[in-house]
Amino acid sequence: MKITSAKVFVGGPKKNYVTLKIMTDEGVYGLGDATLNCRETLPAHYLQEYLIPCLIGKDPRNSEDIWQYFYRGAYFRRGPIAMAAFGAIDMALWDIKAKLAGMPLYQLFGGKSREGALLYAHATGKDIADLEDSIAFYLDQGYKAVRVQCGIPDMPTSSYGVSETKGDVKNYITNFVTNVPAEEIWDTEKYMRYMPKALDRLRDKFGFDLKILHDVHHRLLPREAAEFAKEVEQYKLFWLEDPTPAEDQDALKFLRQHSTVPVAIGEVFNSIYDCNHLIQQNLIDFIRVCCTYAGGITHVKRIVDLAGLHNVRTGFHGAPSHSPLCMAAQAHLNAWAPNFGIQEYLVLGTPECDALFPSNHTVKDGMFFVSDEPGLGVDFDEKEAARYEFQRGYHPVTRLQDGTVWNY
Ligand SMILES: [Mg+2]
Repeated sequence: MKITSAKVFVGGPKKNYVTLKIMTDEGVYGLGDATLNCRETLPAHYLQEYLIPCLIGKDPRNSEDIWQYFYRGAYFRRGPIAMAAFGAIDMALWDIKAKLAGMPLYQLFGGKSREGALLYAHATGKDIADLEDSIAFYLDQGYKAVRVQCGIPDMPTSSYGVSETKGDVKNYITNFVTNVPAEEIWDTEKYMRYMPKALDRLRDKFGFDLKILHDVHHRLLPREAAEFAKEVEQYKLFWLEDPTPAEDQDALKFLRQHSTVPVAIGEVFNSIYDCNHLIQQNLIDFIRVCCTYAGGITHVKRIVDLAGLHNVRTGFHGAPSHSPLCMAAQAHLNAWAPNFGIQEYLVLGTPECDALFPSNHTVKDGMFFVSDEPGLGVDFDEKEAARYEFQRGYHPVTRLQDGTVWNY
């Protein structure tokens, strides 16, 4: 069996999804996601110019050897661009393998450990009343877990994860299309004074059965993160996400010495070597990698097993940064993983996205139910894809009030 050709598509509804389709001489094809948010053409270029020529003629069933060929075979290793490109190839090869077996992908990992996977949605509010409406919206749909992000009074611009529009309960898919990056202003003191009060009010209104998550988005210094974690501990968060930038991994020891709040990190990690220290030193409770820019199913499954050894659970990234193909790869891992924790969920659900990526995966009552179709269980409509073109976009850039550039 041989790979005969492969194509890359860039574009999508409000998003530049990077989709890889690998064709074989037996007619079976595989699909993978290489979407690197706000840098989408780079993994696409890497695939087209460097990787696809090496794929032609290879046996697609040897997914391990192909992964090692690209990773170990390259002199320059790791990085989100290369790992997103490897991730797409790897997903597509597992898709082919499971289609050949006539099984849903999770069966190749060891079958299902659970019927449905717990999801969390993104609740957002310009102010606390808005945020309460947003949480109520998701509770009505059956969600049991929500990430809560709230506008901070007197902050000149919206803070991370907060819709610019008052009354926008969904903040569903952020459109980053801009000619140059937008700029946001951040004020740590205002945030640290206000956010605990907001959490207090949410616990008063919704009680303690609701699973509440909160994303700091790398904004705090190590001492500030420890103080904040200590203060919000009483609100029993499901997790506190990215309290500090994770390049300085030992900084989390300081937080751990002062608080037992569960910590989730890793959505920008692209290698098991980024995760290893945090997992082995028990500095985190949830690992947040994703199947796209952490090198695909082969590499992420290794990270999941390493995490399991140290009682760290999964909480895969699922922001609209990824296409439904990445979400499907993660859904199959979520169905299997003995150390599954929770799954971030935003991608599926718009008619345009469903038309581009048809699938029978279902979401009900805040749970993801994986399809039993052979393979990843997601297809790709090339005619639909022809409607979309690449549009350059950027994440915003964050500055402090005095103009200093800060962590986005
Ligand atoms: Mg996050």
